[in-house]
Amino acid sequence: MKVELKQHFRIESARSLPGLPEGHPCRRLHGHSFKISLVLRGEIDAKIGWLRDYHEIARTVDPVLKTLDHHVLNEVPGLENPTSEHLAIYLYENIKTLIPQLVQVQVSETPDTECSYPIAH
Ligand SMILES: [Zn+2]
Repeated sequence: MKVELKQHFRIESARSLPGLPEGHPCRRLHGHSFKISLVLRGEIDAKIGWLRDYHEIARTVDPVLKTLDHHVLNEVPGLENPTSEHLAIYLYENIKTLIPQLVQVQVSETPDTECSYPIAH
């Protein structure tokens, strides 16, 4: 039987968005408490009864998140323009190789916003 899991993480990071016009507030260096949600999909392990251990997922993604937490995202190779869109793609590409069941990454830069990658067709 197939299920979908979602696990949430938080990082505190600084960024500026160089693609924006002078005077836009997000062009200035500022901080966010990003909420990152990982969506996994797959078959329930018949013996254990779950898709994957939440603790093990957390341990697996920790090294990736550590490169972002309390860092200036613009200084991370590949995140020179660290919009939430680029951050979602970056996280998906870096975590998918570690967790094959990953189907989507969701990035919220505020409680009222969310960016998802990849999107369902
Ligand atoms: Zn921002």
